[in-house]
Amino acid sequence: MAATSMDQLVSLCKRRGFIFQSADIYGGLQGVYDFGPLGVELKNNLKAAWWRAMVYERDDVEGLDAAVLTHPKVLQYSGHEATFTDPLTDCKKCKNRFRADHIKDGKCPVCGSTELTEPRQFNLMFKTTVGPIEGGDNYAYLRPETAQAIFTQFRNVVDATARKAPFGIAQIGKSFRNEITPRNFIFRVREFEQMELEFFVKPGTDLDWLETWKETRMNWWYAQGLSKEKLVAHFIDKADLAHYSKATYDLEYQFPHGLEELEGVADRSDYDLGNHTRYQSELNIQAHVHENKESAAKLALFDDETKKWFVPFVIEPSAGVERGVLAVLSEAYTEEVLPSGDTRTVLKLKKHLAPVKVAVIPLKRNQSEIVKMAHDIKNNLLKTGIGRVMIEDSGNIGKAYRRHDEIGTPLCVTVDFESIEKTPATVTVRNRDTMAQERIAVQDLESYLKNFFLK
Ligand code: ATP
Repeated sequence: MAATSMDQLVSLCKRRGFIFQSADIYGGLQGVYDFGPLGVELKNNLKAAWWRAMVYERDDVEGLDAAVLTHPKVLQYSGHEATFTDPLTDCKKCKNRFRADHIKDGKCPVCGSTELTEPRQFNLMFKTTVGPIEGGDNYAYLRPETAQAIFTQFRNVVDATARKAPFGIAQIGKSFRNEITPRNFIFRVREFEQMELEFFVKPGTDLDWLETWKETRMNWWYAQGLSKEKLVAHFIDKADLAHYSKATYDLEYQFPHGLEELEGVADRSDYDLGNHTRYQSELNIQAHVHENKESAAKLALFDDETKKWFVPFVIEPSAGVERGVLAVLSEAYTEEVLPSGDTRTVLKLKKHLAPVKVAVIPLKRNQSEIVKMAHDIKNNLLKTGIGRVMIEDSGNIGKAYRRHDEIGTPLCVTVDFESIEKTPATVTVRNRDTMAQERIAVQDLESYLKNFFLK
């Protein structure tokens, strides 16, 4: 089968209700997207899988959900005010603007002109007014990454949980970047979500942990359905590292538009905790909370062996939710030619990511006994905790199967005349991938589905 094209995905996402352009009826807000009825389910499932793997399945990670509005000092000391920039260049002929590092052969990507302005640095952070009076110091930033609050809340989390290195703090949340050229659907947008872990380790062990996290994260993406041939770890050259990074792997995925970054796994050294500590020291904070004077001023940990305080190094796996959604959609999108010669579109999503787990289809919409049985089955299945189960009574059975193949529903359960006429009652269960159908007793359905989804 040919590789999935971006057009196929954009069309499916709009048609079936995964993703819409924001403010569509007003012509759209560039670089901003809304997730529709199925998109919100897929996105939530991806985030839940990440949280499960990064927090629940480990014994060394705590969670956090910090505010989006960020104190300017945080982003001053993190280096973002000074260095979170992209090089911006203008085409003198067609007046379009571009990221200078995305320009090939010195030519404008729109009109081909070589008359481009010298690149100048453009800060990507969104600034907003806090309170009713504009100007002066009454401003905050919309965070450009979720990471900073993890660093600024480091002391509070350690005090509340008594964690020792190595341990991590995980967070999923919105980030905002005023990208010069948002593009490639939801790949590069101005408002997006990040799934970030800051993993604090003893200095000297950081490079080993970098390797461990790179492997762990690659394996997690495979478990979300990404194929080994399409995901590569690219060790970044020193010259191309972000301002905070000592060493970084970009996990790059073969998106429909090319091989690009899906997740970064960075060794941020003690850059961030060190810088925020510097600010604390400048304030000359007094040790009124902690017995040890040093610990009040420092975002540090106490080493039980050396009996000394140290600023831990940080390994950061940072993944974009939108890029994750795009990757799993493009991997799952399949067009199959059936023996009949017809083509069926099927979204072969991993079961745990599928927006709808089971569609219950009453074969006759106006036959009250069939409809009632379908609703009873749906309500019972909901209690199993497998996720969204929905009634599908929008049309004929062929259309229902086609729709659910296209949105990736792993199983359809059909209630027909035989279901209400015979005892024990049975229903047809149809498998999305094999299209095989089997007759299952209603009383066995719950355990059948639990087995299918939860094992
Ligand atoms: P790029 O080089 O593509 O601009 P980056 O290196 O600036 O990305 P990071 O700062 O490492 O990205 O952010 C971590 C993750 O956040 C990225 O791997 C990506 O998945 C996601 N991300 C960053 N910027 C965007 C964006 N504008 N739109 C969607 N996701 C983004």
